[in-house]
This record gives sequence, structure tokens and C-alpha cells, in this order.
Amino acid sequence: MAKVGRHISAAGSISFSVERAMELGCNTMQVFVTNPRGWAVSAGEKAADSEFSDLAEQSGLVPMCAHMPYLPNLASPDPDIHRKSIASLKENLARCNDLGIRYLVTHLGSDKGAGHGLGIDRVIDALDRVAGDAADVIILLENQAGHRNSIGADLSDLETIYSRTRLAESGNLGFCLDTCHLFEAGYDIRKKDAIVKMFERVDLQKVHAFHVNDAKFGFGERHDRHDNIGMGSVGVGGFRTLLEYKDVNRKLLILETPECASVTWKDEISLIRSLAERN
Ligand SMILES: [Zn+2]
Ligand SMILES: [Zn+2]
Repeated sequence: MAKVGRHISAAGSISFSVERAMELGCNTMQVFVTNPRGWAVSAGEKAADSEFSDLAEQSGLVPMCAHMPYLPNLASPDPDIHRKSIASLKENLARCNDLGIRYLVTHLGSDKGAGHGLGIDRVIDALDRVAGDAADVIILLENQAGHRNSIGADLSDLETIYSRTRLAESGNLGFCLDTCHLFEAGYDIRKKDAIVKMFERVDLQKVHAFHVNDAKFGFGERHDRHDNIGMGSVGVGGFRTLLEYKDVNRKLLILETPECASVTWKDEISLIRSLAERN
């Protein structure tokens, strides 16, 4: 059975996310484990943490992903922001370990105009510094759509970072590919030959999860605007083609689509599940 889920709200208590995921037909999910719009991390409480991990395991939702909050910028040239970003990454790793969450997805951030190579060096430095904190968690570097100064729109950025950080040596590093970001950055996932070329640039074996999102903008336009499955520029046929390629359908497939009046999240999940389980 394919592992299909979506980003689920942890509002109220993280344990509530389990029931929300089950109602949508998920058998994996992604959550925020800290406030997504702030720097502060509140330490968990042992009983609540084990309640969540037990519930998630019993419900068949493991392995799961957490997503880093929005403010950290691992590529930042600003020493203060960089230091705070590393601290946030460490705290999120600790929360994932406490909650039994295997994967922590992070963006690579922006060099803010200081230079692409420098940005990559800053990300490597950040990952090296958390190598001792990862324990059972695998950090997944997420590709980007390609807005100005961002790191990770070109898939070779991911491989460069992987090859140069000691976090990879301990097996604590992998990739998460967002389909909307791929398409916007110029990887045409609707076409088999483009998919073959894409996986010459990035090693599919290092990819543990996909963010499965359609794209509101056109091919290569570099806008990070997710659309509902089949309603954007990728289309159902595009997802079918991608999910047929090698073992793409055996990775975690996590939707991050917007709320929409004409399609439910439950229907989107069952559509992706049916495409993933065709072969
Ligand atoms: Zn993301
Ligand atoms: Zn996005």
C-alpha cells in the first residue's frame, strides 16, 4: 500500500492531528512540531509526546514527517539569524526524536544576495553543527521553486550539500522533492524523458518523500504557489507519469494543497493513492 498523507494541523494538541489524518484517509502525515511562524520552541511534555507517538503508530501513520517553521534561514549571511536558525533546527530535531517522527523537512533558505556559493557553505556549516543531535531523525532537504537568491531550486544544490556535510555520513540526511517546486524550477515532471534526466541530477535513492502539489503558475515560472491536484499546470496526467517512474510511488507522498470549494482533501488523497497503486 502506498504511503499517502498530507500536512495536518496540530492545533489544540499534536495528538489531535492523528484523528484529523485518519478522517482524510491518510496513512502518513506531516505536522509542525513547533510554532510555524515564530522562533520560540516549547519543550514537549513526556506524557503528551508518548500519547502522540503511540496513537500515530497504532493508526498506521508512521513513518511521518515534520516540517521546519518558516523563519529559520540556514543559508543566511547574517550571523545572528544563522545562529538562531541552527538552534531552531536542533530544537526541532529534539521534538521529532521525542515524538517518534522519522523525517524533518527543511528548506535551504536564501543567501539574501550574498552569493549562491556562500549560501551553500552556510547550509553545510549548519548541518555539520547539528550532526550530533539528529539521533533517530533524518533531515530532508527540500527543493525550491526558484525565487530570487534561494538555495535548492537547482537539484544539484541538494547533491552538493549532501556530498559535503558530515550529517550524510551518519545516514541522517536525505531529500524531499516538492512537485510544484520541481515544475516551477524547470523540471517537467509531466514528461518521462524529463523525469529520467531529472533523476540523473538527483539520486532517487536519497529521496525519502515527495510533497505532492499541483502548480498554480505555468512551467518554469518560479512561483511557489500550490494548486489542488489536477487543477493546476501539472495535471492528473503529470502525476500519473511521475508516480509510474521507478519507485517514486514507494516514497512518502505528502500533499500540501490549499482548501478548495470544489474538491475535498479526502478525494485528493484517494486520487493520488489510486495513481500510486496502479502498478
Ligand atoms: Zn516545504
Ligand atoms: Zn511550496
